[in-house]
Amino acid sequence: MNICDLAPKYIRAIMPYQPGKPISELAREMGLDEHAIVKLASNENPLGPSPLALAAMTRALQEAALYPDGSGFELKAALSQRYVVSSEQIVLGNGSNDVLELAARVFLKPGASAIYSQHAFAIYPLVTQAVGASGIAVPATKYGHDLDGMLDAVTPETRVVFIANPNNPTGTLLAAADLLRFLQRVSPDVLVVLDEAYNEYLPDTAKPDSIAWLKRFPNLLITRTFSKAYGLAGVRVGFGLAREDVAGLMNRVRQPFNVNSIGLVGAVAALEDVEFVKRSYALNRAGMMQITTGLRRLGIEYIPSYGNFLSFRVNGGNAGAVYQSLLKQGVIVRPIGIYEMPEHLRVTIGLESQNQKFLQSLERAIGESV
Ligand SMILES: *Cc1c(COP(=O)(O)O)cnc(C)c1O
Repeated sequence: MNICDLAPKYIRAIMPYQPGKPISELAREMGLDEHAIVKLASNENPLGPSPLALAAMTRALQEAALYPDGSGFELKAALSQRYVVSSEQIVLGNGSNDVLELAARVFLKPGASAIYSQHAFAIYPLVTQAVGASGIAVPATKYGHDLDGMLDAVTPETRVVFIANPNNPTGTLLAAADLLRFLQRVSPDVLVVLDEAYNEYLPDTAKPDSIAWLKRFPNLLITRTFSKAYGLAGVRVGFGLAREDVAGLMNRVRQPFNVNSIGLVGAVAALEDVEFVKRSYALNRAGMMQITTGLRRLGIEYIPSYGNFLSFRVNGGNAGAVYQSLLKQGVIVRPIGIYEMPEHLRVTIGLESQNQKFLQSLERAIGESV
């Protein structure tokens, strides 16, 4: 008997998560210069970290021998002021993925179920399966969440519904009124996890007033991250907002030092760097326009996106060959076959020059693949 055979079956059945290919790996594989490679595969901020955050983190390195503040006092104070919630309503995470996992560990167990949409963020099935609960994927409508279908899928065993708004990798956005109607109709016995990782990329008019909903719905958990518009994906900071009792349970399960000291300091500074977030938003809008215009010119179908990325369909369905050809040209995008979108590729909006290199390389890749 192999020791691994004794691990729970639901653990052994987990498919490993496929992250975007790192620049260093592609450079090694293809013998390319790292500087010549454009990575548009993981929805990272092409501007890098907020300069205020970078300065604060550089100073904080001096203190790296000390454990971080396990309560995250200063970051919680800053978040509490920004979002007008109490510190007790906040759960800090090693990225928001950590918060999603905490929600699963607190509310799910074998025999319970979680609901998410087809084509929704891959971490939802992963954290569900890791605690032995069953996942129910509800078929999407036009690549977006079918909230009525998700409501119908709720059973007495359902404890969590994951909703990504905007969703990754489809970039689809739910209307605030539809989300609100869902919250009003879903059983209060079900935790609704509203994942707003791309919230900062929404125009103000499209932002749902989700945080205000916390007062009305004790079963709502909102997750946000410093990985995208704040440019801090590498230091791993995210957070959840919920009612005090829900946040309290999640904080009990949380590892005492789950957020590192560099990330804590960087996040506080990044939150203050309003100008940087504005700049990230504006760059993304311009880049989205540049890429959609380019794709239309190439006759390539895409799903209109509210995030900092875009999924497009490779004509003829040969996404694998186009992905490989892009790699050879030093451009890393993301295949999304695991999202049941084998004919699509996802590209992150980059700097103008990166977007241009992507479009030129794509044109060549498509020429080769026909
Ligand atoms: C990128 C992303 C996150 C953020 O993950 P972190 O762990 O905070 O880096 C969360 N949800 C979705 C849908 C994402 O695409």
